[in-house]
Amino acid sequence: MPISIPRRRLTVMLAAVPLAAAAALLLVNRPAPHNGDAAREAVLDGPARSVILLVGDGMGDSEITIARNYAVGAAGRLAMDSLPLTGSYTTYAVDRDGRPVYVTDSAASATGWATGHKTYNGAISVTPDGRAQPTILELAARAGYRTGNVTTAELTDATPAAIGAHVADRSCQGPADMAACPGQDRTRGGAGSIAEQLIANRVDVLLGGGGQRFNQLVQAGPFAGRPVSEEATAAGYTLVTDAAGLAGARSGGKLLGLFATGNLDLAWTGPRAAPYPANTSPVACTPNASRAAGQPQLSDLTAKAIALLDAPSAKKGFFLQVEGASIDKQDHAANPCGQIGETVEFDRAVKVALDYAGRHPDTLVIVTADHAHTSQIVEYPQTDDHHSPGAILTLRTAEGAPMVVSYATTLPGQSQDHTGTQVRVAAQGPDAFRVLGVTDQTDLFDTMAAALGVTPR
Ligand SMILES: [Zn+2]
Repeated sequence: MPISIPRRRLTVMLAAVPLAAAAALLLVNRPAPHNGDAAREAVLDGPARSVILLVGDGMGDSEITIARNYAVGAAGRLAMDSLPLTGSYTTYAVDRDGRPVYVTDSAASATGWATGHKTYNGAISVTPDGRAQPTILELAARAGYRTGNVTTAELTDATPAAIGAHVADRSCQGPADMAACPGQDRTRGGAGSIAEQLIANRVDVLLGGGGQRFNQLVQAGPFAGRPVSEEATAAGYTLVTDAAGLAGARSGGKLLGLFATGNLDLAWTGPRAAPYPANTSPVACTPNASRAAGQPQLSDLTAKAIALLDAPSAKKGFFLQVEGASIDKQDHAANPCGQIGETVEFDRAVKVALDYAGRHPDTLVIVTADHAHTSQIVEYPQTDDHHSPGAILTLRTAEGAPMVVSYATTLPGQSQDHTGTQVRVAAQGPDAFRVLGVTDQTDLFDTMAAALGVTPR
């Protein structure tokens, strides 16, 4: 039963809040709750002119709450908290026999929304029997939409790969990485590595890291012996490698932005989590002073991708996927400040998308994650024999309070693991209501296909 507090007693309780704490609560940017009219107005039928899908890799509810507490306080709200229609979805993978695997990786999960099909961990938009399935990006391109793929990871990493390539194993990122994908090997007549397939798919805007994959030499065909990047420029891509090059890119052509050899640099830095009794004194995170000069942030990449993809005169808009990849990677590394900084930067990218949608209400914006992850907010360690068995760090939040973050899905010092809980899927715009309730990750494919009016599975 809900607990109801009489109004008079609530007033007395509020009066007891210390003045400093009350002042701090007034400073937070908390929107008014939605009323019935606002909720009804948020439910719009499709189709949409454009779809922007923003994925926080490994950004479960725990990761969102940690970033919110740290950056804007427990009563504050992030940009991603402002989407009016919110549901949860299940993320499980399957094995080769179709039985559920309760903890997914990024390849199987992205295949879910990219194609509408469940698959095995490691698969990139192929079903367990090895059949390639058309992706939402491919269907959108075929129907005349412009397409974009933006990430802080290598462009050939699992999440960006799944919307524009089909390989048996996520490791097959460049032509020199094909050991696990004989069926896609170009020397045997296959479609090639993920890097080669992204180019062959003519994705209009590709922005991220992974220069090392595009420097690998093509193994067969007219470009044999030359780097994938040369095949890209011959196919009409302009190659840029820094913020200045990105700023100079003009709409109309195809753009390949490779801003790092591997993943993009982290936004923030700070102490790693470590086993108790370490890290019980609250600390703050700092901006990463060693980010490469001229390397754009995710929000910059998102703004530029939207500017390039949106041709105002075109009847059809675009499909754009944006991934904040290193939330996951720093969760694996038990690096709270790295993880939070990536979540905050991802939220800035969400704000860019929402600002665009504010000017273009015919845009479906979806903010979600691919799977949940390790980090948990836990109680402050009580005694030497009552504390997290994992690695911890105590952070001083925006409100000046201590927040203990624990990583304990594996032993301290080991790479931490994904977890299997459902994750948030939030949306606004045409067809956004389809995310309400509890759905499955594969249902997001149908939501986006309906919004774009493309043929679903
Ligand atoms: Zn991961």
